[in-house]
Amino acid sequence: MKASLRCLQSVQRLATRPKSTSFIGLGRMGSEMAYNLFSKQFAKRPDAHFVVCDALPEAASSFSQNFAAAFPGSNIEIVATPEEATLASEWIVTMLPSSAQVQTVYGGGIIPTLRSLPADLTQKTFCIDSTTLDVDVSREVAKDVIAAGASMVDAPVSGGVTGAKAGTLAFLVGGTEASFQTAHPVLSLMGQRIVHCGPAGAGLGAKICNNLILGVQQIVVAEAMILGGKLGLDPAVLSSVIGSSTGNCWSISVNNPVQSALPDKSPPCERDYEGGFATALMEKDMGLATDIAEKTESSLPIGWAARQVYSRMMEQQPELSRKDFSSVYKFLVSASK
Ligand code: NAD
Repeated sequence: MKASLRCLQSVQRLATRPKSTSFIGLGRMGSEMAYNLFSKQFAKRPDAHFVVCDALPEAASSFSQNFAAAFPGSNIEIVATPEEATLASEWIVTMLPSSAQVQTVYGGGIIPTLRSLPADLTQKTFCIDSTTLDVDVSREVAKDVIAAGASMVDAPVSGGVTGAKAGTLAFLVGGTEASFQTAHPVLSLMGQRIVHCGPAGAGLGAKICNNLILGVQQIVVAEAMILGGKLGLDPAVLSSVIGSSTGNCWSISVNNPVQSALPDKSPPCERDYEGGFATALMEKDMGLATDIAEKTESSLPIGWAARQVYSRMMEQQPELSRKDFSSVYKFLVSASK
């Protein structure tokens, strides 16, 4: 008898596995997503079982304590490894920083465990990876999960921490039509717009293309706001003009980088760029775009230039790495003096 099967039986997981969901990666996004997912599952099915796992034990324990306090009678458990999370649940959701962590969690934990389980248990296992990572790594992981006998979709998200908390995320899904249909009810507990983008890796492809545009736009908005300031324009007037003209975009009309430019809104610049989408994550996403462009021989001159701006920003002002990426304005202001 294989070691993992012994473990499975010894902890009497067989009874709870069909009604159990494991969430791996309880960071800024994952903790909000797991909260929505578990609370809505608990409301529908009070005997549901929930499992959390994070490389930082305090992330899993603080989530578990908060959830248990908010939902007395709920059945939530912390496990130390992706292997245990796989043994425990038919549904596994992962929300990790990037490619390296996905390779570790799937390659070093989930996939070997799926291979060691009895075939009927593996077949009932469904993995959803919502990490933004390299398309090729994601396709490779999905191929191995499916070859082991389980199902998987890539389902990166758009909407940020605010959308994760409100349960209004957009999920960009890659996988077979059947897998998309199976995943849909689970994803709809965490998001509002669930789009099937194509086969494995397609959700990530769409996410990376979107963030390529976003990363470039945020820089050029910063450039326009700096130039307008030098020309003596009031930031609120300039933002209002651009916001109702052909230059309008999310970076000027929602995530404007200049204080008081949007009097009716509260973008991260009003809180010294706290919250929002970290510069380090945007730099990672620009890297994913330029890497895949190289592999596919696509010309990305503006994408490359934008990647370099974010990389230099993190090198020269590391304190901006965890701030919202609209702090690129602050970086460019200091560079233009
Ligand atoms: P985060 O760094 O806050 O959270 C990642 C979590 O994964 C952390 O708790 C970390 O301890 C855990 N982790 C790392 N390695 C692990 C391992 N080997 N095993 C188990 N747990 C591990 O990141 P985040 O902001 O939640 O972002 C997660 C993903 O979502 C990223 O790919 C990011 O690009 C994407 N994303 C983020 C946002 C945003 O606004 N933050 C928006 C859209 C997409």
